[in-house]
Amino acid sequence: MTVLPDTTTKPAAPLKVPEKMRAWVLGRPHELKLVEKPVPQPGVAEVLVRIGATAVCGTDLEVISHGEPALVQGGLPFEKNFTPGHEYMGTVVKLGPGVDEFAVGERVAVEIHAGCGRCERCREGMYTACTNYGMNYAGHDKGHRANGFTTDGGFAEYAVNHVNTMVRVPAGMSDEEATLIVTAGTATYGLDVLGGLIAGQTLVVTGPGPIGLMTVGVAKALGANPVILVGTRQDAKRLEIGRQLGADAVVCVDDEDPVEAVKRITAGRGAHYVMECSGAPQAVNQAARMVSRGGRICLAAFAKEPVLVDMAYIVSNNIYLFGIRGEGKSATRRAASLIEQKRFSPKLIHTHTFSFDQVPAAIRQSRERIDDAIKVVVKM
Ligand SMILES: [Zn+2]
Ligand SMILES: [Zn+2]
Repeated sequence: MTVLPDTTTKPAAPLKVPEKMRAWVLGRPHELKLVEKPVPQPGVAEVLVRIGATAVCGTDLEVISHGEPALVQGGLPFEKNFTPGHEYMGTVVKLGPGVDEFAVGERVAVEIHAGCGRCERCREGMYTACTNYGMNYAGHDKGHRANGFTTDGGFAEYAVNHVNTMVRVPAGMSDEEATLIVTAGTATYGLDVLGGLIAGQTLVVTGPGPIGLMTVGVAKALGANPVILVGTRQDAKRLEIGRQLGADAVVCVDDEDPVEAVKRITAGRGAHYVMECSGAPQAVNQAARMVSRGGRICLAAFAKEPVLVDMAYIVSNNIYLFGIRGEGKSATRRAASLIEQKRFSPKLIHTHTFSFDQVPAAIRQSRERIDDAIKVVVKM
């Protein structure tokens, strides 16, 4: 006899939610202001999340200083009462109409992107590349959300999330660690996009920032071997954490040419894959020479300037280049599962914690890498 799972929903009473909340909003470039805003209301297929913790991401620093890749009401996000922050977790406190996928009181971590669900890319499952990005305001409302980029994000007491953007936090995991699930999700998505076998194959990770380090953890969990992590002398602490996350070899570019190092470690064969997380000017050309012919490269960093690329080398060696945005294909759920199975520990990259009142200080700590900051988390 087949025992069907119990799918009856227990209607839970909404928790008491105030009408107003405190939220940080972006003023001019570099300016964050603490204001009072109405608590947002969840619509169809949405829930209200009471935020427990929010991690600072390198992309937040870009949004706060330059605006992009945020896109609010068709333009830059400044002076629009917009709340940044996209790597957060919290507790479901209210359900929108028809929601039975989650219950009030559940702890959730979030993905950033809820595509519009109606464009060609969303229909293909590529919702982080939704072609209606930022189309969510009067006269242009396609229902797209990317909290912290095109809709209000996590440096606030409450946020609205689409049910497709939430993943349950494994039991026993702290709020701070749960904010890192989405970072691990981006690493997982990068490996998905590379589309290979991964297990028993060689992966180079260039750039030991949060995504690079999480890529080491996820790739080792999936059986990549060896995993080679590349960084600078300034990255010494990050490279050490990479070793703790399972990197089989660590290369410091100030001590050794990274292409030569990869050739040495792979006995001249080159790597199957490179996950490029540094954004360094020579990164693409070096990655092309790190992989074997027919190798695959995933670009996951925002480079500061346009770079010159040796196209002839890439073409004549049949090298594949992929770019990723965000954490598509529900990669965050798979990352959370790996973490729940204790295959790697994201909390190794959490270095500093600030209170909600100290968001500007948390941003500065992250931007200036004060005291070797890697992941800075704001805890409610
Ligand atoms: Zn981020
Ligand atoms: Zn779409």
